[in-house]
Formats: sequence, C-alpha cells, structure tokens
Amino acid sequence: MKKILIIGGGAAGLSAGIYAQKSGYEALICEKQNIAGGGLSFWEREGHHIDNCIHWLIGTNKNTEMYRTWCELGVLGDADLYCKQRLYTSNSSGGSLSLDRDLDKLQNDMLSLSPRDEKEIRSLIKAVRTLEGYFGIAGKNHDERLSIEKPLFRLPNLLKYYPLSLEDLAARFHHPVIKDFIVSFMPAKFASLALIFTMANFCGANADLPIGGSAYVKERLEENFLSLGGKIEYGKEAVAVKTKGRKVVSVSFLDGSEYSADEYIFTIDPALLFGRMIDCPMPAGLASQYKKRKRFSAVQCAFECDLPTLPFEGEETLEIPEDLRVVLPGHHVNLRYEGHEKSYSPKGKTLLQAMIYCSEEAAVSYIEAKHHSKEAYQKQKEEIAECISALTVKQFPFLAGKLRAIDVWTPSTYQRYLGTEVGSFMSFAFPKSSIPRELSNRVASFNHLYLAGQWLQMPGGLPIAVTSGKKAILRIVKQDRIRKQTKTAKRP
Ligand SMILES: Cc1cc2nc3c(=O)[nH]c(=O)nc-3n(C[C@H](O)[C@H](O)[C@H](O)COP(=O)(O)OP(=O)(O)OC[C@H]3O[C@@H](n4cnc5c(N)ncnc54)[C@H](O)[C@@H]3O)c2cc1C
Repeated sequence: MKKILIIGGGAAGLSAGIYAQKSGYEALICEKQNIAGGGLSFWEREGHHIDNCIHWLIGTNKNTEMYRTWCELGVLGDADLYCKQRLYTSNSSGGSLSLDRDLDKLQNDMLSLSPRDEKEIRSLIKAVRTLEGYFGIAGKNHDERLSIEKPLFRLPNLLKYYPLSLEDLAARFHHPVIKDFIVSFMPAKFASLALIFTMANFCGANADLPIGGSAYVKERLEENFLSLGGKIEYGKEAVAVKTKGRKVVSVSFLDGSEYSADEYIFTIDPALLFGRMIDCPMPAGLASQYKKRKRFSAVQCAFECDLPTLPFEGEETLEIPEDLRVVLPGHHVNLRYEGHEKSYSPKGKTLLQAMIYCSEEAAVSYIEAKHHSKEAYQKQKEEIAECISALTVKQFPFLAGKLRAIDVWTPSTYQRYLGTEVGSFMSFAFPKSSIPRELSNRVASFNHLYLAGQWLQMPGGLPIAVTSGKKAILRIVKQDRIRKQTKTAKRP
C-alpha cells in the first residue's frame, strides 16, 4: 500500500489523512504539538473551557457542497447545531445594531435607524441575497462548480462592491451606527465582499455552530482518521526535507528521526518550508501572495465573569477610543460569549473572550517584544487585559467588579504554537479589489510533494483548510491513475 506522509495535524492534515485512508493509502500524520487540531484550538484555564476557534462554521446548510465535505469527514450529518439569532452586535457611542439572521429584520433595523441611507441599505441587502442564491444556500440556482468569481463578474449588484474596502463601504452611509456596524466585525481594510460573504452565509443558515465547538470538530476529525486506520505521531517537528533531483528522499525531525514515504503533503506555513526546510524556492503563485498581501493576527484575552449568565448572543463589538490605541492594537474589540455551552464554565460563572485583530506589523512587534524581554512582554499583556476590561465595563456597567482576566495571548503565542512566521492563525488578509483564488497544490520542482492548508487561499479558515486536504489526495489519486494508464498503454 502506498504511504503518504503528512506534515501538520491541523484541519488540513487531518482532512488529507481521512481522504487518504478512504482512497486506500496508508497515511501518517506528524504533528509538532502533543495534540492535533492546529488553529482548531481550545484549552482549559482555571476551570473554564476556552474555545479559541470556531465562531462560525461555513458549510452547515445541507444544500451546499461544503456540507457534503463535512459529512464525508464525519463532522456534520449527525451533529447538533446551535443557530444563533445574531452573529454580532456593534456598540458605538451613537447606539447599537445587530447582524440578525433574518435579513428583512436587519434591513428594517437599518432603515429605521437611518431613512436617509435607504438606497445604500437596500443595495447592500440585495447583494447579500444575490450571493445567498448563488452559493445555493437557499437551495436556489445551486451550481457547486461556481466559485465566487463567477457570480461576481456576472452580477453588477455584487461587482460594484469589489473595489470597496469595509471602510470605503462605511463611508457611503451617513449614520454613525451603520458605519460602525460595517467596520466593527472584521478589519476595516478587508474587502467589503468579505462582510457580504459572511452575511450571506450566516443569514442563509450556512454558518452555524456545532455543539461542542472546536473541540467537537477536532475530535471528530481525529477519531475518524484513526478509526480508518490512519496514524498520528505527536511531538514530531519536521525540520528538513532531503531531496535528490525531482525526488523527495525523506523528512527529518527535531528528535533526530527521518521518515520516507511515496507521497508527501505539507500543511505548514509555506514561508517556513521553502528555502528553509527544503532547498527550493516557493512556487510563484504562493510567492506572489506573500509579496503583495498582508498577513494578520490578533491579541486576545479571556475573562472570568462572576455572573451565571450574560445577556449577550453572538459577539459584541466595542470601538476602541483613540487614547487606548497605544496599548490595544486595533480599532475594535470583539467580545465572545458562548452562553449555549453550559459546560464551558464552573457553576455560577461565565467566560468572556475578547479579540482584537492586528496588522502583520503589529504581530511582528509582539513577537519581537517577547524575544527582547519576557518581563516587558508580560507587563504588556497585563496592560492589554486592564484596558479591555475598562472598555468592557464602560459599555456594560453591570460587569463592574465582575471581570477577572485569566489568560492573555498574542501573535507570539500563535507563532510558538502553530509555527507560523508572523503568528498568523488565518492566511492572507482579504483586501479590496481582490478575489480569493485557489492556488495550485503542486510544487513543480518535485514529483511527489504536495501542499495543503489555509495558505492556498486567502483568507484561510476551516472550509479552505479541509477542502485543500481533500484536493491534495484527489490530485494524488489522479496522478496514480494517469501513471497506471500510461504503463498499461506501453505494454505490448
Ligand atoms: C481565534 C481563531 C478564530 C478562528 N475562527 C474561525 C472560524 O470561526 N471559522 C473558521 O472556519 N476558521 C476559523 N479560524 C481559522 C482556522 O482555525 C484555520 O484556518 C485552520 O485551523 C487552519 O488549518 P490548517 O490545517 O491549514 O493550518 P494549522 O491549523 O495551522 O495546522 C498546521 C499544523 O502544522 C503543525 N506544524 C507546524 N509546523 C510543523 C512542523 N515543522 N512539523 C510538524 N508539524 C508542524 C502545527 O502545529 C499545526 O497543527 C480561527 C482561528 C483562530 C485561531
């Protein structure tokens, strides 16, 4: 049986492993941590369960191709889903506005806030509905081969958002609450299409939450892989790839071991693979992404709340005032509360997670700060927690005296944990005037080396990661078929 060595046991590696086993190969995943999952991460702290990944899982609508993939991976199908009514609520000085899963309600809420913005509001909601239809979310017009590009270039009411960032889109509205609603959920430099895409998925019941969250998804992937006969070695960090001509000879690991296989799939940050672990330049398509796009990360903090429940659903976003931006690296804090998961916190307490997206430059500065002085970095983390706590209490005075920071983590944490160059947990930022195109998983210089993982398509995320794992195996299956046919054809 043909052996496939997969480097990285995140969502992409586990997905590649599952499809490899299902296709009759023998897969071994080598993961540098002592636990699989990668960015699909969660941990326990002072009796609380911190779910650090899934805010929404795209592909929960049964009419979509992604749902079928999740079922093949053993994740959805029989999973219980939590369907939030609101994805987020933006809170600014002027008031608040929620992204409700009922688009008519959202439109009415926006119209009653700002009748003056009626034209822009109707146009935005129409764009969301158009995209919903094209992804087949509503079961209409479904064509699973359609990428985002096709509807975009055919439909003027979507195409007009292509050159706009979120801050450009916000500038089209007059009302400050609507402006804040548009820029508060994701970085303001992101494409307006990123928000429209999120709205279409959420309102089309295609971005719900599996009960048990990230831990549930990681366990389903891992258990499915192992039950199919796959093997995982934990604490196994790849450090170098030996090659000879077009052939990969072996991968060596930090513990001194060296493994060979028939096919190799790398799911790690390509910035750390090419030119560092393997003596070969990065494929041109990927290299141009690293050159022209920015990466991003986040600073996060978990608070124990001394209350048995909180009056929030979905995320609450808060604007960061100018004077706090010297400590906090962004313009908004997103507060996350998983009230539906009763087992995540001890009785009588709740957990509130705060996240602030930061730029690549800011991410690098946290990594450098930690290298420079652990004490100063620790102090910086304490200041972050204090500022977020003060901001949260200012917006929600009932939390005064009830919040206690139990963990703070930064891009430096992700760099150490995931092994990404600048502490990314997704791939490239999604800027205006760009389309998330899928990059090739081939490395032209070698015959049996493939790539998978979120780096093959901006902005990353679990659907991209697991789909890339599946496609790497489909490519290997196809190559094998071609080789077999060529051999048969050559026979006299
Ligand atoms: C805070 C946060 C929120 C998120 N929210 C969502 C969400 O709501 N929805 C969504 O779809 N996605 C979300 N994501 C993104 C999602 O987690 C990632 O896109 C996805 O997990 C990427 O999977 P991957 O396998 O491509 O990469 P990774 O998960 O990074 O996997 C790579 C693996 O390789 C391992 N590795 C690295 N170097 C080596 C080495 N040298 N040798 C061996 N192993 C190595 C790493 O430890 C890791 O396990 C979120 C992520 C975070 C952190």
